[in-house]
Amino acid sequence: MVVIGAPFAGWALPIEAVPDPVFAERMMGDGVAIDPVDGVLRAPCDATVIAVSPTRHAVTLRLANGAELLIHIGLETVALGGRGFTASVADGQAVKAGDPLIAVDLDQVADGAKSLVTPILIANEGYAVSVLAADHAVAAGDPLMTVEAVGTVRQAAPVSEDSASCEVTVPLANGIHARPAARIAAALKPFVAEVRFEAHGRNANARSTVAMLGLGLRHGDRLLISARGDDARAAVTTIATLIEGGMGEAGDPPAPPSALAPAVQGATMAAPGFAIGTAFPFVVADIAVAEDGRGADRETEALDRALAGVRTRLDEPKDGKGAEITIAHRAITEDPDLIDAARAAIAEGRSAGFAWRAATAAQVAAIEATGDRLLIERAADLKDIERQVIAAIAGVPVPAAPAPPEGAVLIADELLPSQFMALDPARLAAIVTARGGPTSHVAILAASAGVPMIVAAGADVLAIPAGTVMIVDAAAARIVAAPDDRAVADARERIDRERASHARNLAAASEPGRTADGMRVEIFANLASAEEADRAVASGAEGCGLLRTEFLFLDRADAPSEEEQAASYAEIARRLDGRPLILRTLDIGGDKPVPYLPMPAEENPALGQRGLRLSLARPDLLKAQFRAILRGVPAAQCRIMLPMVVDRTEFARARALYDEAVAETGAPRAPLGIMVETPAAAMLADGLAADADFLSLGTNDLTQYALAADRGNAATAPMIDGLHPAVLRLIAAAVAGARRHDRWIGACGGMASDPLAAAILIGLGLDELSATPAAIPALKAAIRRIDMNEARRLAEAALACATAAEVRSLATRAIREAA
Ligand code: PEP
Ligand code: MG
Repeated sequence: MVVIGAPFAGWALPIEAVPDPVFAERMMGDGVAIDPVDGVLRAPCDATVIAVSPTRHAVTLRLANGAELLIHIGLETVALGGRGFTASVADGQAVKAGDPLIAVDLDQVADGAKSLVTPILIANEGYAVSVLAADHAVAAGDPLMTVEAVGTVRQAAPVSEDSASCEVTVPLANGIHARPAARIAAALKPFVAEVRFEAHGRNANARSTVAMLGLGLRHGDRLLISARGDDARAAVTTIATLIEGGMGEAGDPPAPPSALAPAVQGATMAAPGFAIGTAFPFVVADIAVAEDGRGADRETEALDRALAGVRTRLDEPKDGKGAEITIAHRAITEDPDLIDAARAAIAEGRSAGFAWRAATAAQVAAIEATGDRLLIERAADLKDIERQVIAAIAGVPVPAAPAPPEGAVLIADELLPSQFMALDPARLAAIVTARGGPTSHVAILAASAGVPMIVAAGADVLAIPAGTVMIVDAAAARIVAAPDDRAVADARERIDRERASHARNLAAASEPGRTADGMRVEIFANLASAEEADRAVASGAEGCGLLRTEFLFLDRADAPSEEEQAASYAEIARRLDGRPLILRTLDIGGDKPVPYLPMPAEENPALGQRGLRLSLARPDLLKAQFRAILRGVPAAQCRIMLPMVVDRTEFARARALYDEAVAETGAPRAPLGIMVETPAAAMLADGLAADADFLSLGTNDLTQYALAADRGNAATAPMIDGLHPAVLRLIAAAVAGARRHDRWIGACGGMASDPLAAAILIGLGLDELSATPAAIPALKAAIRRIDMNEARRLAEAALACATAAEVRSLATRAIREAA
């Protein structure tokens, strides 16, 4: 007896549940099926590979007892022509249980095939199968079934001299793959003759699907059918007619997979989107400066005049993000260190331009030496101001950037904020930079203008010639230069599809968030500025689930006064027009340093004095913020939330300050909630929920702390996935804690914007999802397709998975099936 283990992790199904009669009716043989959640098909026991199908979607194995096992990955997957499958074994190779056989890109295969359900069956006669696992989740290697030899049941063909043969050309688009092979074997059942196929110099029993698959018959191949026995002629005629008739699959073979470039190592999405356009290398010349000055007084005056001129230009009114970034730029023109360093160089005889360039270069080098990702991204702002000041000193316009043509994919070593602002974003299909970071100011500008952007793509992109057609898939950090016609057609089709679906989603975005079976789920927006509030409301936000208050005051040298804060909060509340507003108290430290609260360098800032810890160390700031919120935000809208809570002691200390602020302002007491973004808070949620009025999951931090993976480190970026089962189990614990005290619980980390995660989060029991404004229409549309029973089942299955990739595949399929 041979025990067959699960070749994939996934959901085991009885063979009759496979949605394809060829398998469900056991025409190919008896066995089980798996709906896989991981992307590597493994040997289910020790065996020898009989054949890997030429399109790598199926493999047959000979077991130690002679049984022939067929594993057919997905249904109708032969038509993929090999796309999404990578075989790591060859015909005839001996394999051990657990050895990888075929890598499967589950998303790609699920996209192009009828189903991922994978039948695993014994294809030859004389073996009995006992199913051990069906209708539950299995891990790779878990026992699925046993196979026992029971002796051959087929009668030997009566000896006869009758024989017949006939040659045919295979007209089936995908050749003789598993399904037609099964039908051929079934069609031979009424005949007694021994029928064989011969092709490629090999020979196979036409009653054995496995043997037929081993011939690797493709479209256009010549096949000799020969038979021996009483009804040889009739058998050959029947099978030849069947094959030449195309078996319902006649046609041209599928085109080979187009070569899509893999994601460039380190390339990162800075602004989402998918685009096709033409390469537009963006090169702007530097202004030459003389090294020697014309006297210290003259040069100092030239510098001061230039700085004043740049400040005046910066003070011209701008909207939205542009206005916020201008504040940062103005601060550079007033930076005392920079100005002092330039003056010192002028005093040593340098020209104003040379001195300013040297001072800037020294600061950029110092910033780069810190290794701090966020600071380094800010170096672009310094370079930007450098160009503007030097142009002003020289009395020439800032070197004009070349105007991009319509549909340009702008390629630059680095793009400066002012360069972006001088461009017409409507002409840009996408932006790709060799350097830069995803949270740089220019990335924020691109996202806000809706231009997809990839940063850190490496110097190779600078060699792409102007006019080259390019596909940019920002979310996948993927760039394809000079794609083939098929890839271009696919890309255009995807863009059309995405546009049409966005228009549909937007049209329905003002409807309240509800699942298909009517369960209410509030869909709020994460905000960091007043302008975003308008966009959020227009996108269908039903409130603000996270106002990151620290971002309102990030680029300033001094702490905002209570009045300033109250005015800012009031403005956002006004723009939300009565909708709920959850304000998070300052979450400073970690990856969000602010100039007005200089902090000692910490070895591990993410584990240091950040969030509520810092606020409790500066109770004056926290109380002033509580007061400003209570004064600025109408009571009916107001909710307040504390970041980075660990346990009840911290909450109690914050609440004591809050109580004082309530008493001092005389304002009605707004609900005070906590963010669950430390594993500690998730595990202690029952106790915390007894004290706090509501809970909201900060999945960004919860993920980084649960997986011990820095959310700002490019090397650990691929590990940061909130759909990791470890994170999901923490979320489940938090929900259980909240429920015990009947508390509202939502989520406001990046995961809440991901339609793929929505069903799982809702299935885990969340009341609200707070997303980035742009994601709301698609999120609401995704939720409308979710059935609560399905969502709960999906969440339960996700909690049982071993990896984030497994959960993603599970969710991808659930969404596809619900669509
Ligand atoms: C989070 O950690 O998920 C969160 C929402 O807070 P932030 O991203 O601002 O740290
Ligand atoms: Mg956080």
